[in-house]
Amino acid sequence: MFHKDLALHHSEVAVYGEYSWEVFPYCMELGFGHSILLLPYILVLGKMYFFYLCCTRDPGTISPSNHKQLLKVYTYDGILYHQSHICPTCELTKPARSKHCRVCNRCVHRFDHHCVWVNNCIGALNIRYFLLYLVTLSGMAAAVGTVTVRFLVQVALMSNLHQAMYVNADGEHVPVGNLYIVQRLFLTFPRILFMLGFTLLIFFLLAGYTAFHFYLLITNQTSNEWYKHKNSCLCHMDNSQPSKYLRGNIYHRGFVRNVKEIISPETQQKKVR
Ligand SMILES: [Zn+2]
Ligand SMILES: [Zn+2]
Repeated sequence: MFHKDLALHHSEVAVYGEYSWEVFPYCMELGFGHSILLLPYILVLGKMYFFYLCCTRDPGTISPSNHKQLLKVYTYDGILYHQSHICPTCELTKPARSKHCRVCNRCVHRFDHHCVWVNNCIGALNIRYFLLYLVTLSGMAAAVGTVTVRFLVQVALMSNLHQAMYVNADGEHVPVGNLYIVQRLFLTFPRILFMLGFTLLIFFLLAGYTAFHFYLLITNQTSNEWYKHKNSCLCHMDNSQPSKYLRGNIYHRGFVRNVKEIISPETQQKKVR
């Protein structure tokens, strides 16, 4: 799991190195606004902060001291969660929506998943930091990609590449296509084009993963529940009886309350104290 962190870190350093070394100074010369050029650096600071919070904040560890309060937060749906389930390791009745993480060796309140990137569980108390981490990470790729595309478009326009003509087999003057412009740019700025291609690929992967987590947010599901629901639906595909899971998720309480649950997670501790 460590090499994944390193690969992500190295690719980030490579992209930002290229951005700072070539794209940034060229764009300064071309008179780009400071705010757009500095945006990738602001986002990287935000991302580092949320990464730190994801790594260090308690995801919602269930302990004998908070166990009673956490039991009251969610009702048992009788499908995925049953009142009678006891964690054999922690020796506590499992509150609904909790799960024992085998990596961290603890039960976590509203367990989402164990994240190898941040080497911590993602649960009720740190999922908001995880979402902000994903948003800033995708934002970094989007900002670097946008500035780089704008730079290349500007260069193409300034050098009149789009107006260039070539002579075809019949001896006619024909305007060059976009492929020719990309080829010319690639020959002039190979490192920038490589960096852009990689950044766009990473952006689409990250944006997809972030969108998935926002879908879970608005439907009030954890990754763990989504995975179990999906498998259950697949198992019941041949069955004439619809799966119990298809009848609805009892934790879904409408958009506003679902979002509120993430921003200010319920632990019932406020009421007890
Ligand atoms: Zn446990
Ligand atoms: Zn864990």
